[in-house]
Amino acid sequence: MTDLSRRTVLKLGTAGLAGSALPALTSGSEKAGKTSDGLCNAAINIRAHQLLSLVCVLGGAKCPLMEAAKARAVLQRLGSDPTTAIRLISNADEIPHYTKLAQTGKAAPDAQEVLNRKRDLDVLQRLGLAPGDTRRARYLYDLLFKRIETPKGICAHDTPGWEGCPLAKDGAYERVRAQGWKTVVYLRTDQEREQYRRRNVQRIETGDRLFVRPHHLMCLACWYAGGKNQSPRPNDTLFEIWQRIRREPDAPITLVEGTCMACDCCDGFHPPNGRCVHSCGLIRDYKKDLDVLQKLGLMPGATMKARELFALLFQRIPSTRDVCAYGDGIERSEEWKICSGPDGNPGYVATRRTGVFNEDRS
Ligand code: SF4
Ligand code: SF4
Repeated sequence: MTDLSRRTVLKLGTAGLAGSALPALTSGSEKAGKTSDGLCNAAINIRAHQLLSLVCVLGGAKCPLMEAAKARAVLQRLGSDPTTAIRLISNADEIPHYTKLAQTGKAAPDAQEVLNRKRDLDVLQRLGLAPGDTRRARYLYDLLFKRIETPKGICAHDTPGWEGCPLAKDGAYERVRAQGWKTVVYLRTDQEREQYRRRNVQRIETGDRLFVRPHHLMCLACWYAGGKNQSPRPNDTLFEIWQRIRREPDAPITLVEGTCMACDCCDGFHPPNGRCVHSCGLIRDYKKDLDVLQKLGLMPGATMKARELFALLFQRIPSTRDVCAYGDGIERSEEWKICSGPDGNPGYVATRRTGVFNEDRS
């Protein structure tokens, strides 16, 4: 087994979140009101096939396709920061035109590079991605392990001349894959999530206002389902937000883009920079927020009493189909998956009928 076990990686890379003082958002760019850790700012650039190399290295293999020191550095980063954005590179369409091959001295192909070009495209095709695409680390490894069970057929072949890597049959990749993406990419501990939950519940109960991302108002309505569900949720604090506004329908809600008061205890929330890394919470959720704001005619930062905000929401948005199914119910890619089906969530419709505050009136 490799010395780069997950524990070692975490030890190398985690910035001590276990203490009793929970960190606020801390980076300098956050302080300036700007961020540089968005999806278009890749922290790591690697060849697409090197996604597999990193897994094999973690599994104890000396992958010939990635320099050991670079692999260790990348693994250290992924083991501490699940928000790391990785850009996947391929040079497949940079091959010189055949008329130029003699001039560039590339008439005889570099067999290893030919295999690598195919490996890159094999990986990208299976992931449904294209050269240059950038995704957060957790998303990539979750998808990689779902779609690529073995390096056989990518790193190595039975065809003479295409044998490739002898380590492809050693099982290193498969052993790591069996333990899941969290072996490669950092996952918060349950204990840390619980600390954040406690802090957040207190803020929700006592704060002078609530900060909620717009589409989470809709998620609250889906979950409540006209009164069917009224107990805490493990991955967010929407229940606690509902309790507060039910008790205090005039509580002010300020609409914010991105992660909000409901998110702190989620396994996909990364406290150091406040990003969401959940596979289901990628870019589509930002569009949902903006779609809701547009339909309500509001801007981020708008503050309304909870009762008035939900009245406006239910007046302007009759179904989650209008937001979460993009209005047409067509699912165009993994990144733009539809939550709750193309026809909308029946729980939302039920809550729209009963209202969120109906318990107060009974
Ligand atoms: S099978 Fe071989 S070439 Fe492929 S990632 Fe593993 S060690 Fe690297
Ligand atoms: S359909 Fe899904 S994402 Fe959309 S509001 Fe409901 S729970 Fe939230």
